[in-house]
Amino acid sequence: MKQQRFDLIVAGSGAAGLSAAVTAAESGARVAILERAPKDERGGNTRYTESFWRMQSKDEVADDFTQRLAENAGGWLDPEVTKDWTREQSGWPAILKAHPALGPDLIQTWGEQAGPTLRWLESQGVKFDFLPNYFITVSTTRMSPIGGGRAIVEALAARAEEFEDRVSYIYETAAERLIQDETGRIQGIIAKGPSGYISLEAPSVILATGGFQGNAEMMARYCGPAAQWTRPIARGGYYNRGEGVTMGLQAGAAPAGDFGSFHAQPVDPRSGEAEPVVLTYSYGILLNREGKRFTNEAPATVDATYEATSRDILKQSQGMAWAIVDGQIDDVPNWRKAVRSDQPEIIADTLDGLLAKLDIDATEARRTISSFNNACPDPSGFDPIKTDGLAVTKLSPPKTHWSRKLQKPPFRAWPIVCATCFTFGGLKIDSSARVIDHDGHPIPGLYAAGETAGMYFRTYTGSTSVMRGCVFGRIAGAHAARAANQGAA
Ligand SMILES: Cc1cc2nc3c(=O)[nH]c(=O)nc-3n(C[C@H](O)[C@H](O)[C@H](O)COP(=O)(O)OP(=O)(O)OC[C@H]3O[C@@H](n4cnc5c(N)ncnc54)[C@H](O)[C@@H]3O)c2cc1C
Repeated sequence: MKQQRFDLIVAGSGAAGLSAAVTAAESGARVAILERAPKDERGGNTRYTESFWRMQSKDEVADDFTQRLAENAGGWLDPEVTKDWTREQSGWPAILKAHPALGPDLIQTWGEQAGPTLRWLESQGVKFDFLPNYFITVSTTRMSPIGGGRAIVEALAARAEEFEDRVSYIYETAAERLIQDETGRIQGIIAKGPSGYISLEAPSVILATGGFQGNAEMMARYCGPAAQWTRPIARGGYYNRGEGVTMGLQAGAAPAGDFGSFHAQPVDPRSGEAEPVVLTYSYGILLNREGKRFTNEAPATVDATYEATSRDILKQSQGMAWAIVDGQIDDVPNWRKAVRSDQPEIIADTLDGLLAKLDIDATEARRTISSFNNACPDPSGFDPIKTDGLAVTKLSPPKTHWSRKLQKPPFRAWPIVCATCFTFGGLKIDSSARVIDHDGHPIPGLYAAGETAGMYFRTYTGSTSVMRGCVFGRIAGAHAARAANQGAA
C-alpha cells in the first residue's frame, strides 16, 4: 500500500466535497481529494443538475425556506424530546443531539450561510441569476448558476488544481474504510484505486460521497423492494454507492434523515437524458397499466407536488404510469418546457387510437376517462399558470386543479416512472458539519456534507440540496483547516 500524509482527506468531489476542499486549501491545509469517477465525469449529481437554489436574491433564501424545512424536519416528532430544541444547544440532552430529525440549528445555519456561500461561489467565477426552469406553476423563488451544477464543479475543481503544492486530486479511487485510533479519533482512510489499495493519513476526513442511489442493495435494504423500479435520475448518481454513509455508520455515527426515502422525480423511462421529467399530467390524467387513476394529478402547483406524485407512480404495477392529455394542452403557454424527455410523445387522433398504442388495459382506461370526463366542471375558469380550482370532486381520487374533459384531438401520452434524484438517509451532523455519534458527541476528525449527511424527511424542500452541499462543505472545510492549523482535529 502507498502511504501519504495530509491535513485533510475529502472523499467525493461534487458540490459538497469541492466546497470543502477549496475552502480548506484556501486556509493553507494540505488536502487529498478522492474521486471514484474519472476526471471527465467528476462531480457526481452536481455535474448534471441545473442547480436551482431556493433564494429570493443572491443574499437571501426564499421566504418559505425555513418553514418548509421545519415542516419536513422529521416524521411524527415527539414533543417530549424535541422541546429542548428551544434551549441553548450546549444544554441539549444526548438523545436530541443524536436525533435523526433536522434540528433548528442546522436549518438556521443553512439559511444564514446560503447567501455568503453563493457570494463565495461568485468569487470563484460562478455567476448566478434567475434562470428559466421546467415548472409551469411555481410556489417559490429560485436562482441558479449559469451553466448549472457543472459550472460549480468545473470552477471549484480548477481552483483546487491551482493549489498544486497543497491539493492532490486522486481520480478513479473510491474511499472504502476509515482509519480510527483506539479512542475513535480519525487517522486516515483506505481507498481503492486502479493499482489497488492506498492508505492516506490525516487527522480529518470529510465524507462527501453523495447518497446511496447508485447501490441497488442499499436501495432495496432501506427503501424497499419497489426500488427495483427506480433508477438514478442522471449518470452522476450511479457513482454514489453509499460508502460515505456506510463508513460513517461503521465509525459509530448516528443516522439522520429518512433512510426509507429519497427525492423522487417523474421521468420518461425511454430517455437517457439527464432528468427527463414529464410534468404535463397536471393538465390531464395519470393512468396505471390497469387503466385506472390512482392519484390526484394536480393537488397544488406542480413544483410542490411532483415528488408525491412520483411516489404514487412507484406504487403502481411495474412502478409506471401513463400521462394522458388532449389537444387542449395547447392552451398552456410553452407547455413543452414541462417535458424534458428526448423521446417523442405517443400521439393519435382518437382516444381509442392512443390507447391501442399503450401497454394498458384499454377497456378499463376508456371507462376511467369517460367517468373522469363526466365529473369535470364547467371549464370556463381554466387558468394554466395559476391553481384554478377546476376540480373533480366526486371521484376517488379527486383532481383539484386544471380538470377539463379529455375530448379534443390530438391525444398525447408519455410513460412515466419514478427516478431517484438522491437518497435522504445519511449521517447526523452538527452545525459545524462534524459527524455526531449515538451519544451526541462529535466523532473526532470526522465530517460529512451534502447527500452523505441525512437532512430530509417527507417531502424534499426543492432547490436546497446543492445549496446544502456547498454550505456544509464550506463549513466542514473551514473547521477541518482550523483544526489542522491548531494541530488537532
Ligand atoms: C439531474 C439533477 C437535477 C437536480 N436538480 C437540483 C436542483 O435544481 N437544485 C438542487 O438543490 N439540487 C438538485 N439536484 C440534487 C443535487 O444536484 C445533489 O443532491 C447535490 O448536487 C449533491 O451534491 P454532493 O456533493 O452531496 O454529491 P455529488 O454531487 O453526487 O458528489 C458525490 C461525489 O462523490 C463521488 N464518490 C462517490 N462515492 C465515492 C467514494 N467511495 N470515494 C470517492 N468518491 C466517491 C462521486 O463520484 C461524486 O463525484 C439535482 C440532481 C440531479 C442529478
